[in-house]
Amino acid sequence: MDLGISGKRALVCASSKGLGRGCAEALAAAGVDLVMNARGAEALDETAEAIREAHGVEVTTVACDVTTPEGQAQVIEAAGEVDILVTNAGGPPPGVWSDWDREDFIRALDANMLTPIAFMKALLPGMMERGWGRVVNITSQSVRAPIPALGLSNAARTGLTGYVAGTARQVAPKGVTINNLLPGIHATDRADALDRGVAEAEDITLGAAREKRAATIPARRYGTPEEFGAACAFLCSQHAGFIVGQNILLDGGATNLTV
Ligand code: NAP
Repeated sequence: MDLGISGKRALVCASSKGLGRGCAEALAAAGVDLVMNARGAEALDETAEAIREAHGVEVTTVACDVTTPEGQAQVIEAAGEVDILVTNAGGPPPGVWSDWDREDFIRALDANMLTPIAFMKALLPGMMERGWGRVVNITSQSVRAPIPALGLSNAARTGLTGYVAGTARQVAPKGVTINNLLPGIHATDRADALDRGVAEAEDITLGAAREKRAATIPARRYGTPEEFGAACAFLCSQHAGFIVGQNILLDGGATNLTV
């Protein structure tokens, strides 16, 4: 399917690896020029080069921490007039409800709520003025059903979801859509880190921890960054202009819901 976005320009935050990289690759495959970001310059440059070679699109890289005001200013300046924004950052650490103090919450809110909001505030006006735009926020399945060990994530991402619900309807008249993609378990470094935690806590192998988690998913496997990226590129396509303010679960059926 021709997504109809060849020649457009996208900012994909936190995209040297994992789900962000999946989104960047799928947009590049659709002919979209990219501004990519991550903290580690080496992996970022390697990924950018691989994408240039594979898809022949322009790729600009900005190595910085996207959750800081300085990092955001750097990325926004490099982004310039982007048509597409994909927000992403690392997820907060696991724990139990009584572990976290004010500083932990502030960090999680900064990374997973206030950072995407800062990018939307900076880039939505240009999209609205030009009459076309697409925003996809990478959130989590924890927005629909809480993950007990990820209380910081549950809290911060639900806050973002509330902001998007209202904002998406205010920018839609100008041809700009905002939607959230809610990953369930995907095979990335983040999933490995969480599985390693379970393996240590339960004194089992990493493979056994993975198998145990995969068994809880109706699809009986983890999702892939490629599948995730394809869904993101579709939401950014011309075909998705009537999808507004939605929260789309990509979780292999793991979240047990009727609607
Ligand atoms: P990942 O494989 O660990 O990749 C994270 C990417 O983001 C890397 O490129 C990393 O590069 C970059 N990054 C992290 N923190 C950053 C920061 N502060 N500034 C700029 N770049 C940053 O993670 P992932 O699995 O793709 O997860 C992406 C998001 O989806 C996370 O918020 C995660 O919590 C959420 N999520 C993931 C899953 C899953 O199963 N994978 C499920 C639900 C939700 P650097 O480290 O070099 O910065």
